[in-house]
Amino acid sequence: MGIGDGLSKTFLSWPVVRQLTGPDPLGRGPAARSRHTEELTARTETADRVARSVCPYCAVGCGQRVYVKDEQVVQIEGDPDSPVSRGRLCPKGSASKNLVTSSLRETKVRYRRPYGTEWEDLELDVAMEMIADRVVKARNDSWQDLDDDKTVRRTLGIASLGGATLDNEENYLIKKLFTAMGAIQIENQARI
Ligand code: SF4
Repeated sequence: MGIGDGLSKTFLSWPVVRQLTGPDPLGRGPAARSRHTEELTARTETADRVARSVCPYCAVGCGQRVYVKDEQVVQIEGDPDSPVSRGRLCPKGSASKNLVTSSLRETKVRYRRPYGTEWEDLELDVAMEMIADRVVKARNDSWQDLDDDKTVRRTLGIASLGGATLDNEENYLIKKLFTAMGAIQIENQARI
């Protein structure tokens, strides 16, 4: 290609020339689009597969598409097929990939003793035993068979308040467990 051909190609690529000579005289479409824009690809394009999910943060329950590459979550976008959100996510839902991938996530059990001023790591087994002991003690200490001669067989000493990142299946199991223990105060911040 000679210098003249190169100049001609550069000249013809100018937006104003494309606008005046091409099919986009108002410059609202292809004439205004740069080569850089033409070469952009969607950030989800490299994913191996897409899983459907529901945003766990609040009671709206927006649909999500979770893009996975090499079994790692690489992107989460709104699901256009969701009748609830029709492809939209609020800033929290848009940032929910961090729930899985953030380096700030706590991955160990952290414990601060009564009157302690520092957090310490606990083995999961130890923490589970401590929780179980306390639940059993609270239940025993607060168990009620009767209230004003009415049979209640309940405890007001244990309650459950779930967080928004619990999914439906986890909430189902929590409800079963706490009801079986006699608790009646069972709530979730984000009932979907
Ligand atoms: S947090 Fe935002 S994206 Fe998630 S369910 Fe609620 S409104 Fe939808």
